[in-house]
Amino acid sequence: PGDALNVVAVECRRAPGAPRLGLTPGLPDDAFAHDGQLTKRHVRAATLAALAPAPGELLWDVGGGSGSVAVEWMRAHRSCRAVSIERDPVRAGRITRNADTLGVPGLRVVTGAAPAALAGLPTPDAIFIGGGLTAPGLLQACWDALPAGGRLVANTVTLESEALLAAWYRRHGGDLTRLAVAHAVGVGGFTGWRQAMPVTQWSVVK
Ligand code: SAH
Repeated sequence: PGDALNVVAVECRRAPGAPRLGLTPGLPDDAFAHDGQLTKRHVRAATLAALAPAPGELLWDVGGGSGSVAVEWMRAHRSCRAVSIERDPVRAGRITRNADTLGVPGLRVVTGAAPAALAGLPTPDAIFIGGGLTAPGLLQACWDALPAGGRLVANTVTLESEALLAAWYRRHGGDLTRLAVAHAVGVGGFTGWRQAMPVTQWSVVK
């Protein structure tokens, strides 16, 4: 019955005329308002699978961008909680609007730069780092904030941050994964693959 109620709740939150959105992570990119700073659909689905939300759990979404990861975490169950930390005030406002539009107005947004902005936040069950990996002390602060058994997932497209993730992977284990998604596009009268930037993902249970 709990699951059935969840389905009803999601359906009821749908604004009149809004497109149909499924219950599993990996919503279409255009379901979110964004300025290009968005974890794209297929990588986002893999990211949520690694984050593995469960009822009542709290996510820190560090470098929230458009808030897509936190929004999809919140949509996993009505009791899921999330806080997005985003240093850019325009993007922080966009996260709040995406949360409202997509039926999870309880998503908390902290406007500020991590790691400083993380101080005083309630203990998370999982942390996602989608931006700011090269900020001094950020990864260490996230690691320290995570309780034993907590999950940490970090994504990057830069070599500098990838080097950091490789070093932490050697130290703490987990999974280091490269996600290289390509989409078919028109090439003259034919069709070819357009490769998106590969995303390096480190996923670990503390
Ligand atoms: N996962 C997001 C996209 C993240 S883009 C989504 O799906 O929408 C990375 C974001 O991190 C950018 O918006 C950038 O402003 C933010 N950022 C970078 N360094 C940061 C820091 N130190 N603290 C907080 N936010 C930061």
